[in-house]
Amino acid sequence: MTLLVTGGAGFIGSHFILEWLNRHHEAIINLDALSYAGNLANLAPLQQDTRHHFVHGDIRDRELVTRLLTEYQPRALVHFAAQTHVDRSIDGPAAFIQTNIDGTYALLEACRHYWRELPEAQAAGFRFLHISTDEVYGSLAPTADAATETHPYQPSSPYSASKAASDHLVMSWHRTYGLPVLMSHCSNNYGPRQFPEKLIPLFISKALAGQPLPLYGNGLQQRDWLHVADHCAALRLLLAHGAPGERYNIGSGTETSNLEIALTLCALLDQRRPRADGRPYAEQIQHVADRPGHDTRYALDTGKIRRQLGWQASTVLAEGLSATVDWSLQHPEWSAHDNADAAIAWRQARP
Ligand code: NAD
Repeated sequence: MTLLVTGGAGFIGSHFILEWLNRHHEAIINLDALSYAGNLANLAPLQQDTRHHFVHGDIRDRELVTRLLTEYQPRALVHFAAQTHVDRSIDGPAAFIQTNIDGTYALLEACRHYWRELPEAQAAGFRFLHISTDEVYGSLAPTADAATETHPYQPSSPYSASKAASDHLVMSWHRTYGLPVLMSHCSNNYGPRQFPEKLIPLFISKALAGQPLPLYGNGLQQRDWLHVADHCAALRLLLAHGAPGERYNIGSGTETSNLEIALTLCALLDQRRPRADGRPYAEQIQHVADRPGHDTRYALDTGKIRRQLGWQASTVLAEGLSATVDWSLQHPEWSAHDNADAAIAWRQARP
């Protein structure tokens, strides 16, 4: 039994692989292009583990994907690979169209041809698990109900629009060709080893470097933050028990503003690593011009996965943030990269 994972050298994919191999003996083929956000150091504990096969390649390379499917005969494909940072999608949308839309299309076509040749029992068990996001639902009004899986798609950024487009392709491959797909819509993830362009690692690293913490607009944008381990647990349940053709929201069910996140991180750093001048880190928070098209509120109704699969988030945000700050302090090689450009240079320089 084998899983084919795409984007497994990134933040969530690497957590998924490490946690999967802690629990299962099933091999994993990990196809990743090692973009700026992919890093094999994320998978260092697996260096000697023969159950993990890393393949350096692009999901748009249909020939390669077809070869991997034929050679390894996976029982499922778990699709994390994507361009994921909203700010980058505003600066340069092309890569988002290419990876998120064209790449997903290439995977769907390769899987469709592989799947339809499988013996009946294997074909019935095959799954294409597509990792989507709550951002496809767009911004919710302050008093609106949390989005269920039937909420209309209203993406705001090139990132969320490219994810929405890939979601539509995935669902159409189910309806038209019968491909047994599953789709997850997860909220903002956090935890160790997140690339330092995302809010939480960015603020921790900038705070420690004595730099301003750039908070978009008034900082009151509401997000549902989920620890990455909770996300991975939900994905394992979906693979085991999710119904083909169904979508599942995954979130913690708590809404927190970006300002609250920033203040919490600052307070944790005040306790753990007080500034040399004794001043609070919160003084470094600096409101900057808002991101164009910035969504003000995401909120997910996770009743479906809780009722049908018995999943619920187990990490309380305060504890998860505290552990993430501790991890960052213990890994200065990670948080020393005080902005995305430095982080990119560091990643590209790795052996
Ligand atoms: P990430 O940016 O950390 O990692 C993405 C990985 O995909 C990297 O390893 C990168 O090298 C790889 N990749 C990029 N383009 C590729 C290509 N063309 N071919 C092969 N590999 C390629 O992303 P992440 O935060 O781990 O997110 C993983 C998935 O989860 C994405 O699909 C994202 O949309 C979704 N998601 C993320 C969050 C979040 O908060 N991070 C929330 C909900 C959903």
